[in-house]
Amino acid sequence: MKCRRCRRPAVVEVRRHNAAFCRPCFLHHVREQVRRAIARHDLIRPEDRVLVAVSGGKDSLALWDLLLELGYEADGLYLGLGIGEYSARSGEVARAFARSRGVTLVEVDLAREYGFDVPTAGRRGSRSTCAVCGLSKRYVFNRAALEGGYDVIATGHNLDDEAATLLGNTLRWQTEYMARQSPLLPSEPGFVKKVKPLYRVSELETAAYAFLRGIDYVVEECPLVAGNTQLRYKQAMNQLEQASPGTKAQFLLGYLERAAALFAAEDRSELRPCERCGQPTPGRFCAFCRARAQVLGERLEPVTDRELAHESSEEVLPAEVYGPAAVGGRPS
Ligand code: AMP
Ligand code: ZN
Repeated sequence: MKCRRCRRPAVVEVRRHNAAFCRPCFLHHVREQVRRAIARHDLIRPEDRVLVAVSGGKDSLALWDLLLELGYEADGLYLGLGIGEYSARSGEVARAFARSRGVTLVEVDLAREYGFDVPTAGRRGSRSTCAVCGLSKRYVFNRAALEGGYDVIATGHNLDDEAATLLGNTLRWQTEYMARQSPLLPSEPGFVKKVKPLYRVSELETAAYAFLRGIDYVVEECPLVAGNTQLRYKQAMNQLEQASPGTKAQFLLGYLERAAALFAAEDRSELRPCERCGQPTPGRFCAFCRARAQVLGERLEPVTDRELAHESSEEVLPAEVYGPAAVGGRPS
């Protein structure tokens, strides 16, 4: 096989594009897809301070690498979920990447900052483990970005993730979720802008990119994900893709271009500050504070004046910011 761009021997085949690439041309191809995604949807402006949510997996590390390569000012954010060895190794990998590039990794530990970890929340609360994990991630990403003064949060969701999510939402006609399925969620009061610059890049492509760039990443899936419905949708999409390459991209990109606007009106909720933590929510307490109270067996009360005074006097930040020199130098 020859490279589509330069005719030298190819190392990666991309069936969906009916193309193969040599190493430099493949890296160029991925970079171009991300550059175009950013330009098309105005995902990131050149002057923006970006916070990349880094799980230690191939997608988010590839994304961090790509954004740095494209010249953006991008710090990483690692959230310790407390999932045993898996989390320990994920944190190490994220710290090692930050060190190797001389960039900043912000770290938040769920147990230390909020008093519970994901396995405990899965056992004790009424939500599934994956639901409470997803909820905690969204909450902490937003809070860390607000407190760190970042303009945009970038996550490593790829084409496969987004197509699987769309399939799940479509099967149940969860139109209010479909309304928010976009590579760009603009900023709103209390919410930092969220972007998914890899939404046009498949999982195989991000894996090949990470491999060819020599990025060390955690290969194992989260051990708690077994039987997860998202995983089943991914498998179903993979079967369809196997039979007709390009199906995933047609499904997702076709939706974004032609159908997403139909559901835009479903995304309507009046928000006000959570009485516990101040983050915006449609109810009295935000979903994170409700889940946390349930897991800790506490009754949800509004923040007291005493707590408020305590917080402002000590300036408690939920995130510790590790500068380049300190990354990895602290116990995890
Ligand atoms: P997931 O929800 O595990 O499919 O991950 C989706 C995206 O969320 C990843 O690509 C990362 O950008 C981000 N992410 C997942 N887990 C973490 C974590 N522990 N810390 C920081 N970011 C994460
Ligand atoms: Zn709250």
